[in-house]
Amino acid sequence: MGIPFDNTYVKLPERFFEKQEPAKVPDPILMRINLSLAAELGIPTGWLEQNALEVFSGNSIPEGAEPISQAYAGHQFGGFVPRLGDGRAILLGEVLDRQGKRRDIQLKGAGRTAFSRGGDGKSALGPVLREYIVSEAMTALGVPSTRALAAVFTGEAVQRETPQPGGILTRVAASHIRVGTFQYFAAQQDTEALLLLANHCIERHYPHAAEAQNPILALLEAVIEAQAKLIATWLPLGFIHGVMNTDNVSISGETIDYGPCAFMDDFHPDCVFSYIDRNARYAWGNQPTICHWNLTRFAETLLPILDPSADRAKELAQEAMGKFLDLFQLPYLQNFREKLGLDREIGLENSAAFVKSTLGILAKEEVDFTLFFRHLTRLAADDPAADIRGLFKNPTAAERWLNDWRDLPKAADRVDLMRSRNPIRIPRNHRIEQVIEEAVDGKLAAFHRLVDALAKPYEENADYADLEAAPLPHERVQNTFC
Ligand code: AMP
Ligand code: MG
Ligand code: MG
Repeated sequence: MGIPFDNTYVKLPERFFEKQEPAKVPDPILMRINLSLAAELGIPTGWLEQNALEVFSGNSIPEGAEPISQAYAGHQFGGFVPRLGDGRAILLGEVLDRQGKRRDIQLKGAGRTAFSRGGDGKSALGPVLREYIVSEAMTALGVPSTRALAAVFTGEAVQRETPQPGGILTRVAASHIRVGTFQYFAAQQDTEALLLLANHCIERHYPHAAEAQNPILALLEAVIEAQAKLIATWLPLGFIHGVMNTDNVSISGETIDYGPCAFMDDFHPDCVFSYIDRNARYAWGNQPTICHWNLTRFAETLLPILDPSADRAKELAQEAMGKFLDLFQLPYLQNFREKLGLDREIGLENSAAFVKSTLGILAKEEVDFTLFFRHLTRLAADDPAADIRGLFKNPTAAERWLNDWRDLPKAADRVDLMRSRNPIRIPRNHRIEQVIEEAVDGKLAAFHRLVDALAKPYEENADYADLEAAPLPHERVQNTFC
């Protein structure tokens, strides 16, 4: 027995996808395989030893797979594109994992499809390794995310600005259904497809919604809640997605599509790394607003199936969207309150004010975001290595901030809370760039070490101390690319 496929998406009507086999590649090498994820998916180790390279390079189609590329639309940087779809990704199929959860297995970078438009359907190895590193790190940090099952070097070059080694990522997701999938059918006024898609999502991701008086409304509310909570985990980690287009917003509430994403070094709310995000639409501090915007687009697609009365449908959608702010803000503030070790008695308003002023000072003082909370955790634990002052440009500003913080009520279990919220290691841009550069040269040790180090980001480990450090001026990465 190999991969225990149990496919459902492919049973939907043919206009949902195109059948598409992956392209063959000349000389594949397996760069990394995620054995614990494979076990979670019920894929036997013995089968992997025989088949992983052939299957995850797209050279052989495993038994039970029904390869397709999925249709979707999307707003890219605010402009609507009615037909995007999987231009370089091929869904092999679905499995029920050990917990009975349905998961997609997809090859990203596996060749041209009916949706490729001008593209070559391929991925360069650098972005494949980046997605492997960051999606696995996000999972370990406690953020809902797609996973990386395998990374393959294809043995061929892909033409980018310069020729690059080609790669394929095997991505695992609760599903690859996006806001853009709903937009695809809404734009065609295909109400029948919308209803089928909505019911598929309810059954797959939000089965409780089926019991509701209005299951479509319950689906909308569930997606709003999942996305609001997701963004509330990104911000306190300093994560910037980089391309929050509606085709990159997953209905399941997982972080999806790691392109030009980044974790900030020095804190600034306007921080942007993505080379293509010229207007800073997807800056760190814009992400909640953009998430709300994307969810409004989702709500719009559901209007024809939300209620027979168009006015009532609009009212229901607006009411649901009205809950977004609280659904985001409460976990966001709780997360920051715990990062700061403060007691809940401080209350919502005071938390909000203190978080805001703290972030203002961090921005002004150009403080490294992760190290700030790392040292604050040390301070709370009476660790003599704590050095908040050393992170600020102006030591008096540090003293003033510390005095304000000391005056606030602390949680009784603050050290545990802070340790559980403040990672010691994040995938810093300059480290990712370094390991990718080496891997592209065929040296994989640093890549493996980084992935291993990020698997337990909240645990002290002196062996990985070098990975904690902020970049030196010459190591700073200004831009990330997809
Ligand atoms: P992304 O920026 O990864 O979210 O992709 C946006 C759209 O462009 C999706 O429809 C992708 O499938 C498509 N796309 C990205 N790269 C390629 C490529 N190399 N070849 C074909 N289509 C691509
Ligand atoms: Mg995408
Ligand atoms: Mg992408």
